[in-house]
Amino acid sequence: MATQEAHTLRVVFFPFMAPGHMLPMLDMAKLFSARGVNCTVLTTPANAASVRSSLSRDSVEVLLVPFPFAAAGLPDGCENLYSVPSPELEPNFFRATGMLREPFSQLLSELLPDCVVTDMFLPWAYHVSAELDIPVLLFYGLGFFSLCLYDSIARHDPLKSLPEEAESFVVPGLPHKIEMFKSQIENLAEVRPDLLDIIIQAKEVEARCYGLVMNTFYQLEPEYVKHYTEVVGRRAWHLGPVSLCNSDMGEKAARGNGVSNEHQNVLNWLESKSPGSVVYVCFGSGCHFSTAQLYEIALGLEAAECPFVWVVRQDEEGWMPEGYDERIQGKGGLIVRGWAPQILILNHEAVGGFVTHCGWNSTLEGVSAGLPFVTWPQFADQFFNERLIVDVLKIGVEIGVKSLVAKHKEKELVKAAKIEAAIRKLIGGGGEDGEARKRRAEELGTMARKAVEDGGSSCVDMDNLIHDLEDRRTTKL
Ligand code: UDP
Repeated sequence: MATQEAHTLRVVFFPFMAPGHMLPMLDMAKLFSARGVNCTVLTTPANAASVRSSLSRDSVEVLLVPFPFAAAGLPDGCENLYSVPSPELEPNFFRATGMLREPFSQLLSELLPDCVVTDMFLPWAYHVSAELDIPVLLFYGLGFFSLCLYDSIARHDPLKSLPEEAESFVVPGLPHKIEMFKSQIENLAEVRPDLLDIIIQAKEVEARCYGLVMNTFYQLEPEYVKHYTEVVGRRAWHLGPVSLCNSDMGEKAARGNGVSNEHQNVLNWLESKSPGSVVYVCFGSGCHFSTAQLYEIALGLEAAECPFVWVVRQDEEGWMPEGYDERIQGKGGLIVRGWAPQILILNHEAVGGFVTHCGWNSTLEGVSAGLPFVTWPQFADQFFNERLIVDVLKIGVEIGVKSLVAKHKEKELVKAAKIEAAIRKLIGGGGEDGEARKRRAEELGTMARKAVEDGGSSCVDMDNLIHDLEDRRTTKL
C-alpha cells in the first residue's frame, strides 16, 4: 500500500479512568498527534465529555467501550475513580475495569494499531495486545525517582532487617541518601490485596513490554533515569512534562473538565493580586480530609495572611469556622469547590507557591510553573515524591506528616499553627534558604520548558520513540 495512510503510524491509547492517570495520557496522545501520528483514545461513555474537552482541538479519535458499573455493583455512571462515592467501593471499580478486557480485545482486533499505550492498572491490556503481536508501551504515572525507590524496596526488603524500635531507614542502593519513615511505606498486602495483585501483574508487564513512557524530563532526575535503565534494566522514554503541551488558555481551562466556567472567576480573582503573592492549595483528585483537618487548614491559611486559592473537593459541610467565608473574602482568600483549572492557576504570575499532596502530576506541574512547594503527602508514591522535592531538588518545605494513612481513615491532625508556619516560610520568609528555594524552583521551571522545546531532552526522546516504532513497523511490513 503506497497511500499516505499506510505510512502513518497508528497508536491506540487506553488510559485508566482516574484524573491522575487519564490527563497525562491524553496529553501524551496530543504530543503523538502533533507529530502526525494517527491517534485513537479508548474510553467509556461517562468519561467521553471530559476526554474530548481535554483533547481540545486535536484530531485525536475517541472510541467508547461500555463500562460495566452495574455488574460491578457501582452506582449508575460511576466510571471514574474520582466519582467512586466511598473507599469501600474502590475494589469494585478496579474489578469493573478488569471486565473491559473483552470489549477492548474486540476493538483492538479491528483497529490493529502499530502500538498500544496503556496503564499499569490495566495490565491485561498487554496480554490482549501481545496475542495480536502489537507492542505495548506501559504508563505508570510515576517518576523515575519513585520507580527506583519501589524497585530498591522490593529488591532489598530493608524493612525486614530493621529493628522493631527503628522508626526510619535509608533506602538502599540509590544515588542519594534517602531516608523514609517505616510508617510511610504502603503495605498493600494488608490494606488493598486486590491492588497488590494488579501491581504484581503490572511488574510482569513492565519486564516484557516494549518499554515505558514516562511523564518526566531528564534534567529533573538524571541520576534516576540512569539508575532505572542501568540497575532496573528496562527501556523507558521521558516525554514530559506532558502538561506543557496545553499552551493556550482555552486548553489549560478545558483540561479535565469541559463543563466548568470556574476558570473565568478564578482568573479575574488572580488578576487582582500582585505577582508571586498567592499560595495555591490543592490535594489532587484522590485525597480526603476529616472535617477537623479541613477546619485546621482553614485557620492555618487565614493566619498565614497571604492570599490563597484553596480547592476543596469534598461536599461535606460543617468544617468551616464561624464567619470564615466573609472574613477571607475581605482578606484575599478564594475557595474553589470541586474541580479547579489547576495548570491555568499554577501558571498565573500571581501564584508564588503550591501546597500539594505531591501527586506526580501536581509535582511536575508545579515544577513546570517554577514554583516552590509545601509538601503534604497522603499515600502511595506521594511520600517518595516529597523526598525528591525536599531532599534532592531542595524546593520544598515539609508540613511534616510522618505516616501514610488509608483513605478516609483518621490521619494525624496537622494543626493550623504548623500550616501557617510552612506557608509563611514558603511565600514570604525562609531567609537565604527561602530565596535559594525560589531560585532553584525558577531554574527547574526553565529547564522543564526547555526540555519540551525543539532539541530539548524530552522532544528528542519523543523523536527517538517514534523512530523506533516506525522501524519496528517497517521491518514487520
Ligand atoms: N487536577 C485539576 N484540578 C483539580 C484537581 C486536580 O486539574 O481540582 C489535575 C491536576 O492538574 C493533575 C491531576 O488532576 O494533572 C491530578 O494528578 P496528581 O498526580 O497530582 O494527583 P492524584 O489526583 O492522582 O492524586
